[in-house]
Amino acid sequence: MINRRNLLQFSMSASATLVLSQGLNQKLLAQNTNLAVQSINSTTALITGSGCNVLVKKAANSELLVVDGGLQANAAALRSTIERTLDSRRISTLINTHWHREQTGLNEELGNRDTKIFAHENTRQWLGTSIERPWEDVIFEPLPAQALPTEIFYHYGNMPHGNDVVEYGYMRQAHTDGDMYIFLPADNVLHTGGIISSDAWPLMDWWTGGWIGGLVDGIETLLSIANDSTIIVPATGPVMTRAQLVVMRDMYAQIFASVRELFMQASNVPETLAAKPAGTFEGQLGASDMFIELSHWSLIPHYTPDA
Ligand SMILES: [Zn+2]
Repeated sequence: MINRRNLLQFSMSASATLVLSQGLNQKLLAQNTNLAVQSINSTTALITGSGCNVLVKKAANSELLVVDGGLQANAAALRSTIERTLDSRRISTLINTHWHREQTGLNEELGNRDTKIFAHENTRQWLGTSIERPWEDVIFEPLPAQALPTEIFYHYGNMPHGNDVVEYGYMRQAHTDGDMYIFLPADNVLHTGGIISSDAWPLMDWWTGGWIGGLVDGIETLLSIANDSTIIVPATGPVMTRAQLVVMRDMYAQIFASVRELFMQASNVPETLAAKPAGTFEGQLGASDMFIELSHWSLIPHYTPDA
């Protein structure tokens, strides 16, 4: 069961478990006003402040792997921060964990260089089309051709990065329908993609294939990979431990069960919001109305026979 003490556990930053190492350029840690660098180990860093958590890994041959790229407005500053922090300009691979603009803003910056841009096939398709979601007055235009992923996958696999191996996998329909995780076994670091934030409710983007039941399943996938020592990097917010991810899994499972029960009773959106299915957790993650409303809509294709 969820209780307040468990929730407070995952509000506690796991950064205390991080060891600041000498391998990264320490002078940069306080240099940029917007971007902040957190050292994970001598070859791996977390960069915050560009729109999402950006995980960077330097291989022995100095090639850089970058997981997610923040908003495009921050692309030049982020690239510069990455290159100076890791003391290399060889960004060989950029991974898009899903199509959202908070993750894909570095694509155009790196798309004309010799960088592999890697993503799930569904992510590549969303990035290549115009998207207008019904809950906002925004049109996301397709990315230019040179900014689209250059290599795609469907299920799971691994790729070499210098002497290391990068493991990745698809989490099916969860936050969107193109969500992937990335696991660095040598560092025991797991990037969750978009399905988890430790400081906010995720956007339940049912318009591009997400749904709350799949979000719970996606967290189960992450739990099957992590062990008690794994450093878990969410989409935004402080890094997490596996124990904190278990608490989060239980919370989303409880909310999913409540919203689904209301949905099956033919509750409409105002009725579901009034029932406050996530009210217990708002002290931790803030107002939940948008998450609950989008979660309600996300159930329609899964529980309505004629949808
Ligand atoms: Zn997202």
